[in-house]
Amino acid sequence: MSYIIALDAGTTSVRAMLYDTEMKKFVASAQQEVGQIYPHPGWVEQDANEIYFKIAYVLNSCVTRAGAERVAGIGIANQRESVIFWDRETGEPACNAIIWQCRRTSEFCERIPQGMREKIREKTGLQTDAYFSASKIRWGLENVPRVQELRRQGRLCVGTVDSYLLFKLTEGRTFATDYTNASRTMLFNIHTLKWDEELLGYFGVPEEILPEVRPCTARMGEMNAGGRKIPIAGVAGDQQAALVGQACLSRGDGKITYGTGLFMLFNTGERCIRSGSGMLATIGYSVGERVSYALEGSVFNAGSSVQWLRDELGFLKTSADSELLATSVPDTGGVFFVPAFTGLGAPYWRGDARGMLCGITRGTGRAHIVRAVLESIAYSARDLAESMQKDSGIDLNGIRCDGGASANAFLMQFQADVLGVKIDRPVERESTALGAVLLCLLSLGLTDEKSLSAFRKSEKIFSPSPERERFDGLYRQYRTAVKRTLLT
Ligand code: ADP
Repeated sequence: MSYIIALDAGTTSVRAMLYDTEMKKFVASAQQEVGQIYPHPGWVEQDANEIYFKIAYVLNSCVTRAGAERVAGIGIANQRESVIFWDRETGEPACNAIIWQCRRTSEFCERIPQGMREKIREKTGLQTDAYFSASKIRWGLENVPRVQELRRQGRLCVGTVDSYLLFKLTEGRTFATDYTNASRTMLFNIHTLKWDEELLGYFGVPEEILPEVRPCTARMGEMNAGGRKIPIAGVAGDQQAALVGQACLSRGDGKITYGTGLFMLFNTGERCIRSGSGMLATIGYSVGERVSYALEGSVFNAGSSVQWLRDELGFLKTSADSELLATSVPDTGGVFFVPAFTGLGAPYWRGDARGMLCGITRGTGRAHIVRAVLESIAYSARDLAESMQKDSGIDLNGIRCDGGASANAFLMQFQADVLGVKIDRPVERESTALGAVLLCLLSLGLTDEKSLSAFRKSEKIFSPSPERERFDGLYRQYRTAVKRTLLT
């Protein structure tokens, strides 16, 4: 047997990727888009049946391609925090899935008193927010008649997307989730590795409706594929799976995903860090019961600012054109851009901030502005990296990058210069899927933790410029620009 299938149940699409364990690479994939449902302003839902049917479809196409007898196992990575309610007896969803972006519980979360917020932070590592699962589960229990009926009958199951897929794929034999997905629910104590009684009480969630929580490398169950039983083993939330896929397995390793937004995870090893600057503490991954913690920070707008240049300003035909334009000038000519289209997240936490372009002169051209936008992505990442290093007292070893905008060599080089560390870009940019494969291999005993790094290959390493002071100076100017946006 020589294949592993990675299931990546993302927010906009679900994919199955067939990984050849001998060639150590992906050899086929199948993908389906998943519809979004917006019943009210700010509400975001998906049809849980659609998620499952499309997963089953893409999974089957990879199983058929490989031949069931040659698939050694299936690993799962998934969109985090989203909540599904279903019937334990039939597997039928009780209502639409409530997706992580959904803001329907934000008023409830804003009313949570300070003392409780402190406890939530202490126990779960998270900032109290509607984004995480707890208030969404509470909402379903209080507002959906079918959910209430199933609860009365003792048939209700509630869980994140991974737990629903596991339940369906094992035909109801497994009702479980993993540490990383549980760590995003705001109900899971990341120190004791158990559902937290006090938080369950506060949100009115009975423990019996929740899945059992297992390590990322647990054997979760088996899927029946035409008589052959394929183990499902290895589960993690998408960002955490990417941390593993990038082999960020030592304290001080960091990965940044440059997509629409920017996501950074920083491995803090066995220490769970309490951040003073609003970073989230979370479970990075676990090998068996041994947990590695991580700090997580995100920037709402990264690649989206490049899309803005392309779609709103008409400065670019494609996002990739930004590289050529940016390198057609030696610098921005003093122009700075602050990508605060939807406010500023960590470490500023100012939802009311808005974007700004400053330092414009009569000589400023399109190329300067494009370059300033790309540079702003790198500065935002330094904001996160500085906070994480300060909070943890751990130095950043380097950054491993992925996501659409990591293709931009100018941006990656500038990032190395601004952070003063190496940026390592892998051959395989599907870090999330690779993480699911690696966790599956670990779970099946087909590899060990020491050997994981060998599965990830560097494509290019961007080394920082020796001119540290020049780049520190630029970053200070950027911080001044940010301060100006906060005054308006
Ligand atoms: P997501 O998973 O968030 O949809 P992707 O990882 O697919 O995002 O990355 C898409 C984003 O990356 C878009 O916002 C796009 O503008 C940006 N992008 C893609 N290629 C480049 C490039 N060569 N230079 C700069 N930005 C890019």
